[in-house]
Amino acid sequence: MIVRLSDGRSLPIEMYKVRIVQKTTLPPISQRLTAIEEAGYNTFLLWTKDIFIDMLTDSGTNAMSDNQLAAMMVSDDAYAGGESYRKLGCAVKDILGFDYYVPAHQGRAAEHLLAKIFCRPGTVVPMNYHFTTTKAHFEMGGARVLEIFHDDAMETTSDNPFKGNIDLDKLKEVIKRYGPENIPFVRLEATTNLIGGQPFSMANLRGVREMVAPHKIPVVLDGSLVSENAYFIKCREQGYQDTSIEDIVKEMMSLSDLVYLSGRKSTCVRGGLLATNNPEYFNELKAWLPVYEGFITYGGMSSKEIEAMAVGLREMVDLDVASSSADLIKDFVDKMVARGLPAVTPAGGLAGHVDAMKFLSHLPQEHYPAGALAAALFLVSGVRSMERGTISMDRDEQGNDVLSDLELCRMAVPRRVYTMSHIDYVVDRLGWLHDHRELVGGLEFYEEPPVLRFFTGKLKALDDWGTKLAAAFEADFGPHV
Ligand SMILES: *Cc1c(COP(=O)(O)O)cnc(C)c1O
Repeated sequence: MIVRLSDGRSLPIEMYKVRIVQKTTLPPISQRLTAIEEAGYNTFLLWTKDIFIDMLTDSGTNAMSDNQLAAMMVSDDAYAGGESYRKLGCAVKDILGFDYYVPAHQGRAAEHLLAKIFCRPGTVVPMNYHFTTTKAHFEMGGARVLEIFHDDAMETTSDNPFKGNIDLDKLKEVIKRYGPENIPFVRLEATTNLIGGQPFSMANLRGVREMVAPHKIPVVLDGSLVSENAYFIKCREQGYQDTSIEDIVKEMMSLSDLVYLSGRKSTCVRGGLLATNNPEYFNELKAWLPVYEGFITYGGMSSKEIEAMAVGLREMVDLDVASSSADLIKDFVDKMVARGLPAVTPAGGLAGHVDAMKFLSHLPQEHYPAGALAAALFLVSGVRSMERGTISMDRDEQGNDVLSDLELCRMAVPRRVYTMSHIDYVVDRLGWLHDHRELVGGLEFYEEPPVLRFFTGKLKALDDWGTKLAAAFEADFGPHV
């Protein structure tokens, strides 16, 4: 929630009490230098013991509520026919309005099942923007991913409130060009993860639906961050100011034929889900479930997490929960802009993002500026962020790098985990780094997996810039922080 202070300023205030805490430490700069070198300048390969503030992701790192933890205690561990599955079903029906659902062990497992039943060689899947695991699964299924966003989506500084919209003119073109028979579905991602957590509007979702329905092309919603997208609709779209998050989510679902989600985001658990009102889709999904996930009533999830997901689905439509991260992110982005940093605007739904091509404008894209920025930020702060740029794209069939549309350093804000002083610290260290940005050089791979290389690939700093940056930091702050 945002409260207005007596001097007119807005304050994003926490609508929860912290009752269990986890200790964190700030390792000294020398330890951070060793850690990032051993991690191959890849923040995924760092260990928690070396990290102060973990902004790698909001996936599975959110604080659960007291009610979620309580629900875990009464879960039903039956292999088949468990009560926990039925409770999840009630929540899916009440909150999402769907009769059929299957659990899956996480979001990408849901994408795998979707690809199994929908994607074939020769098909194309239009979408507002891809997610890494989405693209990998759909392409392994033989489909081609077509991103049909508005040109605005690639403007890192913009005041377009809905940079996650699909361009309807492009969608019309795609349907004409490829034919509805080659389009198994259109996918909309609720707050597009890779381009800064940017939402789509209800009007856009409705427009997509109206365009594809006559061709019998289904609308598939990636609802991993659906509560944040709903919150942005409430704040930014005309006519929704007085609509509850619950009603906005219901309306989004009523315009979709199938929703899948990673439960690790908006619902604050670890798991995944697919839900639909179409019995045919359900039967096809169900057939693959025992092969890849487990029996239908647990689908690869622990029954405890299924219980917590049922509660999480209900809680995510509480305005105080839906806004918990988004309001802090807005504060974060406003502070970065005030410090003169090239933050992505408007603020999105899962993280604060910095445009690494602007921040490190002296680096060519082939030297992975976003990866270099993420590593440099860790070095000078102990803050772990994530590269969302060319390293996150795999090579093409000829083995060439595929340069990403954007080079972003993403600092995720897990829900209800960090406070405003953490944010202030991150902005300060980013500011220091910006003042010393010419010390940051590029990266090159020395160990590179063929698929989703960003997870475990290792790189080295060209010209040993890490050591020089650490020395400059130590000269300013001393060896202990
Ligand atoms: C996280 C995420 C996924 C993948 O989910 P996992 O649970 O990490 O497998 C898919 N789509 C979107 C939009 C996501 O944010």
